[in-house]
Amino acid sequence: MTVSLELNNGVVMPALGFGVFQSPPEETAAAVEEALKIGYRHIDTAAAYQNERGVGEGIRRSGVDRTEVFIETKVWVSDYGRDETLHAFDKAAGKLGVEQIDLLILHQPVPMHFGATVAAYQALETLLAEGKVRSIGVSNFMPAQLAALLEHAEVVPAVNQIELHPYFTQPAVQHADAQHNILTQAWSPIGGITFYPGWGEDRKSVMDDPTLREITRDHGKTPAQIMLRWHLQEGRSAIPKSTNPARIAENFDVFNFELTASELARIDGLDTGVRGGPDPDTIDPTSIELAIPEE
Ligand code: NAP
Repeated sequence: MTVSLELNNGVVMPALGFGVFQSPPEETAAAVEEALKIGYRHIDTAAAYQNERGVGEGIRRSGVDRTEVFIETKVWVSDYGRDETLHAFDKAAGKLGVEQIDLLILHQPVPMHFGATVAAYQALETLLAEGKVRSIGVSNFMPAQLAALLEHAEVVPAVNQIELHPYFTQPAVQHADAQHNILTQAWSPIGGITFYPGWGEDRKSVMDDPTLREITRDHGKTPAQIMLRWHLQEGRSAIPKSTNPARIAENFDVFNFELTASELARIDGLDTGVRGGPDPDTIDPTSIELAIPEE
């Protein structure tokens, strides 16, 4: 069982990362410091989360050497365009307090203004050529959007970060990613979007799924651990989020057991085909009022 994954450009990335979406800026540094203490060596943030500064602070406070931590962040759509995206790197690196970012990805395609998406991606290619980032990628790209991007791209994205948990496994996207040698990375890997507090009480939480609960009993593990192990055994990267020290530790304690092929298949079989997040084919993310500040 590998704990690290080699990206399509040879860069090695820890498969299990630590997410910080919805981690309040003031709690982010402590959560990141705790995660690094426990053993995580990969942090996933985004300009849009407005906590890159806390991520940088948490890394510095942890005492873990910068070279041992894989930092992934995302360019928000209001910074798409060639010059804007080049500048988005400066903003992110400044807030993180680093010279180089390990993986910089586009947060969303903008289907209504795809030209700006392509220009943003070409800026990522420039940043890669200049050595300012070690790898580049995308997030929430559906197969047709990937194909459209690849018509203009010189560098195949290393990663496509998408919503992926047992209730929404996106087999067509996983297949398209694999065909292009793009690593699929799961956001909401333990189904967070199916139970985020305040996001609609009628949602069916994947944490309560009876099949998962049954599998937990055979392994003495929690539903979150079973889901994370499922991602890792199927070759994906996963970036669970928590600000709670016990759950941060729980989500990293997944390297001492193995799911059987039939358990993996049972979890695959839970897919409902219904996404929790917005549909990247129809949403216009530029309609969200969010500008990324300089500082
Ligand atoms: P997630 O990691 O699947 O779940 C996070 C939720 O689960 C939080 O409410 C957390 O609360 C809770 N939790 C954490 N560990 C738990 C455990 N062991 N048992 C029970 N509950 C647990 O969901 P996510 O935050 O949506 O996704 C993870 C990361 O993916 C994000 O942080 C972000 O980095 C990235 N992401 C990317 C996109 C995108 O568009 N690219 C979208 C969403 C997320 P506590 O903090 O209280 O533990």
